[in-house]
Amino acid sequence: MRYSQFLIPTLREDPAEAEVMSHRLMLRAGMIRKLAAGIYSTLPLGERVIKKTAQIVREEMNRAGALEVTLPFVQPAELWHESGRWNVYGKELLRLKDRNERDFCLGPTHEEVITDLVKGVISSYKQLPVNLYQIHIKFRDEIRPRFGVMRAREFIMKDAYSFDVDEKGAEESYRKMYDAYCRIFERLGLKFRAVEADSGPIGGSFSHEFMVLADTGEDVIVACTDCDYAANMEKAEIQAPQAAPVKKDDFNELQRVETPQMKTIEEVTGFLNVDASSLIKTLVFASAHDPVVALVRGDHEINEIKLKNLLACDHLELADEELIERITHAPRGFAGPVGLKDVEIIADLGLQGRINFVTGGNEKDIHLINVNINRDFTVSRFADIRCAQEGDSCPRCGEKLTTTRGIEVGHIFKLGTKYSEAMQATYLDAGGSSKPMVMGCYGIGIGRTAAAAIEQSHDEHGIIFPEPIAPFSVIIVLVNPTDEKQKQIAEHLYNDLLAQDIEVLLDDRDERPGSKFNDADLVGIPLRVTVGKFAVKENMVDLKWRKTGEVKQVAVDSVTEAIAENLRKTNFT
Ligand SMILES: [Zn+2]
Repeated sequence: MRYSQFLIPTLREDPAEAEVMSHRLMLRAGMIRKLAAGIYSTLPLGERVIKKTAQIVREEMNRAGALEVTLPFVQPAELWHESGRWNVYGKELLRLKDRNERDFCLGPTHEEVITDLVKGVISSYKQLPVNLYQIHIKFRDEIRPRFGVMRAREFIMKDAYSFDVDEKGAEESYRKMYDAYCRIFERLGLKFRAVEADSGPIGGSFSHEFMVLADTGEDVIVACTDCDYAANMEKAEIQAPQAAPVKKDDFNELQRVETPQMKTIEEVTGFLNVDASSLIKTLVFASAHDPVVALVRGDHEINEIKLKNLLACDHLELADEELIERITHAPRGFAGPVGLKDVEIIADLGLQGRINFVTGGNEKDIHLINVNINRDFTVSRFADIRCAQEGDSCPRCGEKLTTTRGIEVGHIFKLGTKYSEAMQATYLDAGGSSKPMVMGCYGIGIGRTAAAAIEQSHDEHGIIFPEPIAPFSVIIVLVNPTDEKQKQIAEHLYNDLLAQDIEVLLDDRDERPGSKFNDADLVGIPLRVTVGKFAVKENMVDLKWRKTGEVKQVAVDSVTEAIAENLRKTNFT
């Protein structure tokens, strides 16, 4: 491809709208342009990256035995009524009517459509298992689309759905997808980690997220320093330390202290001169059922997902001012467990074995000191309801946990029979009885993966693409296109590389060399060949690696072989 005939509208300045690096660099490199909030056009350079990413995903899905299909983007409401999700999906589901006033939606996901399809074409155990996938557009009407394609409303996703005769088969399908995902992210050239994820009310250990590691990632990954345990923050369990039995003789006398206007942990611990670990945070939650009170140490954070799973409820949120007052008879900031009536109190395991706590006094501007469990209040139950922290103990081996950041790019999930039962996707087993198919679903955000690659790998000059998804493997910078000799060498090299099936971009534009070099760095092509005076005089060109900045002088005659050799190495290690 010749740069002069290609469309790469690079920008010199950082676009004001971009909050994260990948968004900024994709705009600056001319990969994408915004049409509306969360809706982007992909330009030719971006398209090459997306296509390459999608192709690797496709190849590995095919290798794992999944079959490619294309499912409709516009979906009839009837299917969503059948699954029971039309009314519960919320505003992310963009609903519309056709000319006959029939309800439709833009597909945010395709469980309904695929279940309906499979139900119509599969009736016997002999046709199972089957795993169908597509690489196609989704639309989710996010309340706050941001970060470019990282959290767009319209996006390209690979979604796969497996159907099995039983749990055992479904587990095998899941395992195949897990392995396929590992291969995909390895082949994409990304540093990643598969982590256990929360699987919601369905439970079980059958949900994993695939995280691309990046310091700028939104998600926190908790991983063991010794064994291979890794989970996302929502899910990460903590091995509670063995709590020594408390001695009642060590209980100090309960006291009421005035803490005017002191509502935060810092204010209270600073004023009372105590460590945050000896303070109890008392959090009131509104749930689908009765309100509950959760207690965690002042140096710990509540994990609402764990609490929600513990309570087995769909809906849980921090109480508003009114509910706090109703439960505690005090304004926000002064809640404590002492004296609470008719409400379940769930305490984190971290409170066990400790004494003489500071808590809110359930009275404005009052805290209590020397509060002790079982003397001053009772706990309904103890449970692991807090977020893991650096230094906590691994639930598997007891060694230290550490935290890193990542970007979720894939999620695999065992669905069970939720959809097949609701939508009657059944098969006849060998004995002739009808059973619901057991399902799994498996997603990868294609644009998100490309963006995550940029978050993981960039510098102050621009993107540093991993070779497998780089828009081109090589860029030839022809320093002076009006110099016939330089031009001849560059053209010759260009044709040589093309003949070897190497994807090459020839920068033949009549631009300053400096701006050509800047653009080459910005768009992140792994190898740059500079054809300038040196090439004419000495018959040598500069070969520069974008990632390391390393430069080698190579004879014009051997540069094609050197590049081919380098690509063979990067693709097979
Ligand atoms: Zn461990």
